[in-house]
Amino acid sequence: MEAIEKLRAKCLERGASGIRGLARVFRRLDANRSGTLDADELHRGLEEMGLALEPQEIEQICQRWDRHGDGTLDLEEFLRALRPPMSQARKDIIAAAFAKLDRSGDGVVTVGDLRGIYSGRDHPKVTAAEFLDYYSGVSASVDTDEEFVAMMTSAWQL
Ligand code: CA
Repeated sequence: MEAIEKLRAKCLERGASGIRGLARVFRRLDANRSGTLDADELHRGLEEMGLALEPQEIEQICQRWDRHGDGTLDLEEFLRALRPPMSQARKDIIAAAFAKLDRSGDGVVTVGDLRGIYSGRDHPKVTAAEFLDYYSGVSASVDTDEEFVAMMTSAWQL
C-alpha cells in the first residue's frame, strides 16, 4: 500500500472529519503560507494528530508531491490526493452546496455570506478546499452516488 493510502485509511478510521482534521493541521503548519511542507513539518503534523508513519513513508510522500525539486511537498496537491476519490456526481453536488453558501462568489464562505451581506473585512470561515476535505470524508462512508446526492440535496436544500 502506498504511504498516502495508508494515511487516508488512518484518517477515515477517525470518522467523517478525519481528513478535514489532518488537512487543517497541515495548513496551519504552513505558517509562512508558502503552500509547501518539508519532511519535518509533515512529521510534526502527523505526530500532532497521533498518526504514525515510518520515516521512509514520510520521505516517500515528500518526494511524490515535491513539485519544485526542493524536498518539500505541494500542500494543496497532497491534500487533494489524500481525499478519498469521488465520482463527478459527488464533486458536482458538493460544489453546488458550496456555491449556495458562498453568496458573494469569492470562493470563501464568511459570516457575511451567511448573513446575506458583503463585507470586505470578513474573515474567511470556510474555503472551497476545506469544504471538499470535509465532504470527501463523509462521502467515503456513503456507498452510492444516489444516496450521497440525496443526502446533500436534503441537507443543503439544493
Ligand atoms: Ca464569499
